[in-house]
Amino acid sequence: MKDKMVPAAIWLVFEVIAISLWLAKNNIFYLYNFTYIGTALAVGLYLMVNGKPGSRRFVQLAVGSYMLIYLGLIARENMQLEGFWYYLFKGLFEAATIHYLIAKILGPLLFGRGWCGYACWHGMIFDLLPYKKPSHIRKGIGWLRMIMFIGSFVLVVGLIYYYGFAIDLIMFYLFIVSNILYYSIGIIIAYIFKDNRAFCKYVCPVTVFLKPMSYFSLLRVHCDEKACIHCGRCLDVCPMDVQVNCESRKRKYATECILCYECTKVCPVKALR
Ligand code: SF4
Ligand code: SF4
Ligand code: SF4
Repeated sequence: MKDKMVPAAIWLVFEVIAISLWLAKNNIFYLYNFTYIGTALAVGLYLMVNGKPGSRRFVQLAVGSYMLIYLGLIARENMQLEGFWYYLFKGLFEAATIHYLIAKILGPLLFGRGWCGYACWHGMIFDLLPYKKPSHIRKGIGWLRMIMFIGSFVLVVGLIYYYGFAIDLIMFYLFIVSNILYYSIGIIIAYIFKDNRAFCKYVCPVTVFLKPMSYFSLLRVHCDEKACIHCGRCLDVCPMDVQVNCESRKRKYATECILCYECTKVCPVKALR
């Protein structure tokens, strides 16, 4: 029963969002968009709680490629951070502003960085690289994310200042260019640092939103510290270096957890859940 409850709850939440936005904005796109994403997530989670291998990969591919190829390249919606600034300054509550609000600003209060583990089209590719288990030695270059964040803001403000708001075509090309940049930097530093998720740890500007919000996440991996035998297996497999064998929200790199649940699979005493 429990294995069906969580996927069903997730599906329902997305259906409520789908129907509410459809009716509020009188646009049926929202109905099929959020129904598709909610269904992909629910199916993936159902497979996951039933121990089916590759279930997270299924969700990543289903949602990530839909957002990149359909929404980004075919429908020409810039869902990158630049698209968020653009729609925000334009005063529009649609496309990137809705996406950011649900996946990256308010949503993380409920499901932490689930976006990073299950839906991001960059993480979807980085997870295919060969360094799933990083060295766990952090580099002191996390400030890069702030440079990227401020750079993105200044770029969009500058474009609006020079061209006004008639820059939809520029925003489309910007979507393509910034994705090429993200993938290139992400793959290069993954190989340099031997860490698939190096881009997520040091460079991704979206984490400026994701990290503080996910600190308060309702959904998180819990650790029964009394049961833990300190074997270190969970720490070894964690792609984000989270000190998951500590129950506190203040555990090291707590706000980096992408809810992949690799740690729970290897714990010999089932101390993680
Ligand atoms: S940290 Fe950034 S690039 Fe990495 S998965 Fe999250 S949103 Fe995507
Ligand atoms: S291995 Fe565990 S602690 Fe690490 S990111 Fe995945 S769910 Fe979070
Ligand atoms: S794998 Fe389990 S027992 Fe080992 S350190 Fe992690 S929580 Fe403790």
